[in-house]
Amino acid sequence: MSDSNIGSYHTNAYNAEAACEHCEGIIRHEPWCQTINAAVCYARKIIASPTELSIGDATILHSLGVLWDRCHG
Ligand SMILES: [Zn+2]
Repeated sequence: MSDSNIGSYHTNAYNAEAACEHCEGIIRHEPWCQTINAAVCYARKIIASPTELSIGDATILHSLGVLWDRCHG
């Protein structure tokens, strides 16, 4: 970012206690925040638990040779 953009830089993280725990938004959530973005919420769920994967996505991943399972490392 150049110095000329500093004036337009957006931040809403001025009160840490009232901030969203995911995006740190106070007045509004960021577009990528899982509390308002269903796709991000789904992505977080399937990372945390492979059983949350939809049948359609499981079929697609399987056809691509992807094994979507818990990390055993
Ligand atoms: Zn948020």
